[in-house]
Amino acid sequence: MLLFKKIKDLRTYLSQQKNAGKSIGFAPTMGALHAGHISLVNACNAENDLSVVSIFVNPTQFNESSDLEKYPRTEGADIEKLTSANCDVLFMPTIEEVYPSGTKNETENEFDFGNLTQVMEGAERPGHFEGVVQIVKRLLEIVEPTRLYMGQKDYQQFAIIQEMIVQWGAPVKIVRCPIVREADGLAMSSRNVRLSADHRKRAILLSQLLNEAKQRSQHESPAQTEAYALARMRSEPDFRPEYFTISDGRTLQPLEKYSDAETVVICLACWVGEVRLIDNVVF
Ligand code: AMP
Repeated sequence: MLLFKKIKDLRTYLSQQKNAGKSIGFAPTMGALHAGHISLVNACNAENDLSVVSIFVNPTQFNESSDLEKYPRTEGADIEKLTSANCDVLFMPTIEEVYPSGTKNETENEFDFGNLTQVMEGAERPGHFEGVVQIVKRLLEIVEPTRLYMGQKDYQQFAIIQEMIVQWGAPVKIVRCPIVREADGLAMSSRNVRLSADHRKRAILLSQLLNEAKQRSQHESPAQTEAYALARMRSEPDFRPEYFTISDGRTLQPLEKYSDAETVVICLACWVGEVRLIDNVVF
């Protein structure tokens, strides 16, 4: 695997590869890699000549500085995992390299996401998606991939970046990769390592509630299921749900009836102790 820290060096290498007719699959990450990230690398390798992964803990998408400070950093292990997964190129820039004229967001009013950025994570984490759009656009300008790989784990993020690509008109195809889970159902996340043993064990409630909600959609309304799931999370010691929302999978508008949408997505965010977890199911 080749490691680049400078944009100029990466672009020189990638333009040689593109001139040789190679397709490029790109997966942006913030490191602390787990099997979920590696599934994106595998998808890159399966569908492209070259796989490129970036590791960059983007400061502009953290709405809480303590979350940024506590974000796990495991550079050595990440490099080993990417090498084992046959990743071709790792891009690991510094903050100054990515934002040479400061982190001020030039993309802020460039796109209109309507409802997509207002609900769920957008409502709970002010400024988060502005930072995500800023960094993904920046990385797409640097890498100019053929295909962009992102996880369903961050369903709303995927929907927003998909819309950004449409409005921007960038010639990149975005691919959604399924959620990779632990054996007991917990969605893999870099933040899971911060759960205490007891919280880790009980965090399986979240994926269980999503599956249960899918079953319940056969016989009760979205509002009834949402109330049930919120009450279950609240009754668990140290669990503090932020939302459990049943929406149209395309527009992310909350649903009054299941029949109003072709695709349904149920998204949740819940604090388990000091760790904020998100998960979702699509059907
Ligand atoms: P992050 O490093 O958390 O910013 O995630 C980088 C990419 O990996 C994003 O596109 C995530 O949606 C994706 N990802 C994170 N966790 C998982 C998972 N459990 N399964 C699949 N993709 C994931």
